[in-house]
Amino acid sequence: MSINQLNVDSLFDSSLVAAQQPQWPADELASAVKELKSYPPLVFAGECDDLRSHIAQAAEGKAFWLQGGDCAETFASATADSIRDRIKTILQMAAILQYYSSMPVIKVGRMAGQFAKPRSSDSETRGEVTLPAYRGDAVNDLAFTPEARRPDPQRLVRVYNTSAATLNLVRAFTQGGFADLRKVHDWNKGFVKDNPYAARYEAMATEIGRALDFMKSAGVDPDAFKTVEFFSSHEALILEYEKALTRIDSRTGNPYDVSGHFIWIGERTRQLDGAHVEFASKVRNPIGVKLGPKSTVDDALRLIDKLDPNREPGRLTFITRMGAGKIREALPRLIDGVTKSGAKVLWVCDPMHGNTFESSTGYKTRQFEDVMDEVKGFFEVHKALGTHPGGVHIELTGDDVTECLGGGAKISAEDLASRYETACDPRLNHTQSLELAFLVAEMLRDR
Ligand code: PEP
Ligand code: MN
Repeated sequence: MSINQLNVDSLFDSSLVAAQQPQWPADELASAVKELKSYPPLVFAGECDDLRSHIAQAAEGKAFWLQGGDCAETFASATADSIRDRIKTILQMAAILQYYSSMPVIKVGRMAGQFAKPRSSDSETRGEVTLPAYRGDAVNDLAFTPEARRPDPQRLVRVYNTSAATLNLVRAFTQGGFADLRKVHDWNKGFVKDNPYAARYEAMATEIGRALDFMKSAGVDPDAFKTVEFFSSHEALILEYEKALTRIDSRTGNPYDVSGHFIWIGERTRQLDGAHVEFASKVRNPIGVKLGPKSTVDDALRLIDKLDPNREPGRLTFITRMGAGKIREALPRLIDGVTKSGAKVLWVCDPMHGNTFESSTGYKTRQFEDVMDEVKGFFEVHKALGTHPGGVHIELTGDDVTECLGGGAKISAEDLASRYETACDPRLNHTQSLELAFLVAEMLRDR
């Protein structure tokens, strides 16, 4: 399959307002966009179609969606070790979910493109100095100097190159034997040993190993155990980047955003008459939209009309991020209204973004117990309505960071300072990610 690199600019209405865009220097932006347009796709349109069919299965209640990774990827953290540990963490979580629920798990990284962030304020002030806010490595640098905070369009080219290198390693790991289910034990190697979930994981891995040996002894040793499908995803925030990587698929003549398999629109950029929704409406990738606690049924229905007018299974995923205290009240009416419209969306719970607060010690953090309570509320609401709790969307890392409070390891407000490394929002560390997977797996099994 090949993808034509036609000029697709005419697809998009350039008069629409795009929220959350940096003030790019125009000439430099034009040359970065020109460069990006000349590059090959990062993903293939056919892979996006495969993912769309998997999502359709999940929307029918026959699969579970696991999406995880950094809030903000950085160029510095695109190292072999960091990428490997994030993939291993997601593979471990998927094994846990699949083992307990006997359901296929769709594995999706917030990875290989998640470099841009929406911000609540355009600027940041420290003492007497006010500078542009950090908008992710795609735009500027976290350091608080005028030079570092200047939006630099060449960073978009670096996003492409870093995403290409990341995806290359992801593909090598997931297709080259590393993700073989028979390696389920090995995925735990290199992580902290004295964590209670590691022991529980080892016990489960032993059981999986026994089942695989049993099948092998019976002459069954399918190739499906040897590789896994792993998809990339990011928020489609910087439209100049996403448009430059939109190409016409020569098989079908349809446009695809080939910067990632799945793209989503954030809570701050989902205006119905805005440029982000319009962009997503024009590309054939499976699309996600975040829905916060103030979302109305009307918002949801109008997004469906705009993004999924043909009610196509797998096309649209709603990622709800209500907050633990609000989900039980806010989610039922949304699900009810959408179900009545006849649309078949996938419902995914993001238990991170509605549960952020500042710790007594001054860090942006989340309480593990709130994260779990939102997931619990999500399962309760779907159970009551007879709909499928389709998946979870988690900010996590394979590293042993201290960014979220609580969990089995009881991270305290004082502990946050020891390894607080995120460039944006606090992530679950490896131990907390396994703990969450065990708890979600039990809910999925018992639903
Ligand atoms: C995010 O996913 O990092 C994010 C900014 O989420 P939201 O759009 O839901 O606030
Ligand atoms: Mn975030």
